Amino acid sequence: MADGMKILIVGGGIGGLTAASAFRLAGADVNVVELQSDWKVYGVGIIQPNNALRALDQIDVAEACVDAGCAFPGWRLTDLNDNLVAELPSATGGAPHLPPNNGIGRRTLHDILLARAESLGANIQLGCTLESFEQDAEGVDVRLTNSDEGRYDLVVGVDGISSQLREKLFPGVYKQKFTGQGVWRYNLPRPEGFDWARVVFGKNSKAGLVPLASDLIYIFLVTPEPGNPFFPDDELHVLLRDRLAEYGGLVRDLREIVTDPKEVVYRPMEPVAVDGPWHKGRVVLLGDAVHGTTPHLAQGASMAIEDAVLLADMVAADGDMEAMLTAFTARRRPRSDLVYKTSLQLGEWEMAEWEDRLPPDANFGAVMGQALDALNAPI
Ligand SMILES: Cc1cc2nc3c(=O)[nH]c(=O)nc-3n(C[C@H](O)[C@H](O)[C@H](O)COP(=O)(O)OP(=O)(O)OC[C@H]3O[C@@H](n4cnc5c(N)ncnc54)[C@H](O)[C@@H]3O)c2cc1C
Repeated sequence: MADGMKILIVGGGIGGLTAASAFRLAGADVNVVELQSDWKVYGVGIIQPNNALRALDQIDVAEACVDAGCAFPGWRLTDLNDNLVAELPSATGGAPHLPPNNGIGRRTLHDILLARAESLGANIQLGCTLESFEQDAEGVDVRLTNSDEGRYDLVVGVDGISSQLREKLFPGVYKQKFTGQGVWRYNLPRPEGFDWARVVFGKNSKAGLVPLASDLIYIFLVTPEPGNPFFPDDELHVLLRDRLAEYGGLVRDLREIVTDPKEVVYRPMEPVAVDGPWHKGRVVLLGDAVHGTTPHLAQGASMAIEDAVLLADMVAADGDMEAMLTAFTARRRPRSDLVYKTSLQLGEWEMAEWEDRLPPDANFGAVMGQALDALNAPI
């Protein structure tokens, strides 16, 4: 069915570029419109758990990601002074031929996804987006901001967590809401022998270190940020260093080389989730636009990638478009809800722990383990 179909993809991020390749492989004509006039991909890393690699394998880029990134077996949990508290190997249940996790620079991932989409013949237009559309039962008439007009069989909105297309489809219904936490990220040289990712529990924050390449790791720091403050760009390195002051061991050593404010990526956690359906007529949303999660399970990109490959698969099967898009939301919701709700729960417990009011039945390990195991099930 996708053979010869015309698909417009709005947004050239992780989900959009994956969808472009998946739809090209299914035989569709693909046009991607990306708002930015040149690619501005920030430089920190992405954790790719096994289920993300499994989905990327469907567009034949999983191996390229592993080659360009750094596979790691799981997570070591330590106290502030590097004393090992627990070692948690990750499962490879979803795709045993691929590593349990891969760390990769976001720009490297972008280059791989873009090259794949272009090599498969997707048309990609930068500095351009959807201006307006009208649809009937058979298709969508679209006008782009560069004045191009066209008729498409399907419009796929993958324009990220602040999605304008979500607002066009469901005006005023879904708003991002600040959770009380922010996350700081910074790239650093990889210490000798640093092969596992690490989580270090502070008294008032949580730090993590993730291998990204033979010579590179990144640090993330989850902090309480009451009131969702604005931070001036030129002070970000000082603010991150302040927040790392309680850490000893390896994190203390690495803190000394957090010196460049331009390399700090800070994001307040402002998740949003669309209940469903994720479509109206022949316009469907996926990725962060419908399930912009907090990062506690490192599954945001995985969910966008899984959405993209499944949607292309389902569109390729014969059938009624409305029924197929309804079925698409129904298949994706349990997984994206699991990630979204578990991540919110973990964030709430972290804040409770930092304020010494953790409920006695809170069990971080069990909740994370159950969610990650469930995600190894087929999509
Ligand atoms: C700093 C950081 C670190 C993260 N680390 C991880 C991680 O380790 N593992 C993980 O799984 N997830 C991680 N995530 C989450 C992950 O990045 C997202 O879940 C993922 O990028 C979602 O993909 P997407 O395609 O839906 O959105 P995006 O990748 O955000 O892409 C949206 C694209 O749409 C474009 N766009 C926006 N508006 C328009 C418009 N109106 N018209 C056209 N184009 C538009 C944007 O410019 C962008 O290119 C991280 C997020 C951040 C911010």
